[in-house]
Amino acid sequence: MSQLKTAKRIALVTGGNKGIGFELSRNLAGAGCIVLLGARDAERGKQAVHQLELAGLTDVYPIEVDVTKHETVRAAAQQIKSHYGRLDILINNAGINVSGDGLASAVDIEVVQRVFETNFFGALRGVQAMLPLLRHSTSGRIVNVSSGLGSLALNSDPSSPSYNTKLIGYNGSKAALNMLTVHLAYELQGTSIKVNSANPGFTKTDLNNNTGVETVQDGALAATRLALLDDAGPTGGSFSKEGPELW
Ligand code: NAP
Repeated sequence: MSQLKTAKRIALVTGGNKGIGFELSRNLAGAGCIVLLGARDAERGKQAVHQLELAGLTDVYPIEVDVTKHETVRAAAQQIKSHYGRLDILINNAGINVSGDGLASAVDIEVVQRVFETNFFGALRGVQAMLPLLRHSTSGRIVNVSSGLGSLALNSDPSSPSYNTKLIGYNGSKAALNMLTVHLAYELQGTSIKVNSANPGFTKTDLNNNTGVETVQDGALAATRLALLDDAGPTGGSFSKEGPELW
């Protein structure tokens, strides 16, 4: 198949079939990007794309990506390469919260490993597979969808509302993801690629059994802005919808 030459930005959103990732896909399609809506389950991906099409958004396509499976991530990179030859925006959004996660002294290590496998290694896997394609963009953007629970500052601040939420797997994986942001920004100095962490805020989704207080529209704001940053924008930072955040 010959490559499509397009001036539109090409964006990949992992975990795009629901929650914040679905809203991110909607926002980026609305902003004129070609959106590759990543889903680990092909059928769920197709359904999500169909919903966006019904909402009048074109240029959204399902792509199978299970971030815990090398072969699907590599196949997705190969598909993007052969169709477009580049990637402009990578949003590492896929994430899980596993029951049984909790205090470091008692948690089952396998639970922590499972959470890290998606939330940290999944993002690292995505970055390693997609970076060659992002290097072909004239203004690449990587957004790691992190969490306030990954903040070392908030985890050690007794006045923080989330001070007592001590999930070593989830919080640790997001702290590691933030480290990935900082290290990639360091490595990519002097290139056109910007890398930032987005903190959605406590958002009503399946991840927290819909106990969150923010809407998915609000939860997607920070990552949407970081994905669409102009060339004067920041790199190597953490941002909520209100602005820069402490690590
Ligand atoms: P969600 O509604 O549960 O959506 C999570 C998405 O990730 C789903 O599409 C899910 O796919 C996908 N996913 C899970 N494991 C995957 C894998 N191995 N490969 C590919 N996709 C996978 O949760 P959400 O709240 O929108 O979460 C999105 C991101 O925001 C996560 O990184 C989360 O940690 C972060 N976040 C959320 C909140 C919040 O309050 N909701 C706060 C801070 C940060 P399936 O449908 O197949 O399960």
